[in-house]
Amino acid sequence: MAALTYHLTTFGCQMNEHDSERIDGLLESLGYSPAAGPDEADLILLNTCSIRESADRRLATQLGNAKRFKAARPGVVVGVGGCWAQSLKQEVFERYPFVDVAFGPGQVDQLGEFLLADSIEAQGYFEFDGFTADLPMRAVQSAQAWMQISVGCNQKCSYCIVPSTRGLEVSRPFNDLVAEAKVLVARGAREITLLGQNVNSYGRDLRPDRRTFSELLTAVDAVDGLDRLRYTSPHPQDMGAEVVAAHVALPSLCEHIHLPLQSGSSRILKAMRRTYDRERYLGRVAMIRDAVPDISLTTDIIVGFPGETEEDFQQTLDLVSEVQFDAAYTFIYSARRDTEAALITEGVVPAELASERIGRLIELVQENAELRAQRFVGRSVEVLVEGPSRTDPDRVRGRTRHNKPVNFSGLAKAGELVDVEIESATSTSLRGHATMLASALR
Ligand code: SF4
Repeated sequence: MAALTYHLTTFGCQMNEHDSERIDGLLESLGYSPAAGPDEADLILLNTCSIRESADRRLATQLGNAKRFKAARPGVVVGVGGCWAQSLKQEVFERYPFVDVAFGPGQVDQLGEFLLADSIEAQGYFEFDGFTADLPMRAVQSAQAWMQISVGCNQKCSYCIVPSTRGLEVSRPFNDLVAEAKVLVARGAREITLLGQNVNSYGRDLRPDRRTFSELLTAVDAVDGLDRLRYTSPHPQDMGAEVVAAHVALPSLCEHIHLPLQSGSSRILKAMRRTYDRERYLGRVAMIRDAVPDISLTTDIIVGFPGETEEDFQQTLDLVSEVQFDAAYTFIYSARRDTEAALITEGVVPAELASERIGRLIELVQENAELRAQRFVGRSVEVLVEGPSRTDPDRVRGRTRHNKPVNFSGLAKAGELVDVEIESATSTSLRGHATMLASALR
């Protein structure tokens, strides 16, 4: 199978240049290689700016080109990031229906989660929560690193083109991954995120030495000097007790699991070929929360899958209310050529209705996220510093082990671990003040 290629065009300021460097590094770690031009790329990304008119005009030209390339090769994914995308949000898709994904500027770390999440197969906007401009660039290892552990996927979700474009799952050799983790840590990484389409089926194809994902977690956790370990995305079907137990046993494994839901209706999950139903998903959530009650749970949800009735959608809302996710990426379904779901002609949800549903869902997700975040107020949490706050140069920004962005007062440099006392919380971020360098305690 040929490697996937990408082409990234950057508009605007230095911030965007820095973000694009991180996007390059991330895409390379995901196995993408640079294409000679957008006409040859599998993934066309435009990192946009909304400040200068000249950038707007150049962007319009590039979007026109992307539309042509996609018309010639329909499997191409077109993504638009940066400030212009942030200013338009969902309107990007109304104006440019061929765009697959749009995202605001910010935490490029989350882009890996997004590209590997099921969501790339649905048209949707997601908002990053900060800027990466102050993060070290690719040439210098950031404190946060990604490590791809497998390619491909053995699932057959009916809306997803990944199995036909990337083939069956192939795991990278266990010892190579452990060695790579050691190199990353030696070069300055304090946090590593393991990436794969379905991370927790890692190792089943390794012969003669089958390995499990929990064994890999254990081995990477044991790398001297690693403070934090994350992974994305697991499939609910394969989220087993031993991975949950690893969250209890392994000191570096963070208190956050991104567990894609897609729908709260068993009927729709079946049509999506997700291989679990509502009850099984809730069972996984109960197992996780029994073991780690304080864990942050985030998810992906697709709205408007063909055949989704108001009752199905209500079941999604009910499940969201029941689970109370800490955050969710929400997407409107859009048919992808060469997928089973693209052949469904009955029960297609009109665009207006899908927009109305996603609006209701986002409101509920935000309400829950804000409520959940209040548990951190008054607590002292460990924050991995990413750089100065974008909105207030007197403050510092970073991320907790629960994957919550934090803006705080105090002095700290990118890559340091700091204890922060949380004063307030919104649905997307926390605010507080530094009490001491957590790393000074180690
Ligand atoms: S789990 Fe499903 S949605 Fe995710 S990559 Fe595999 S086939 Fe696609």
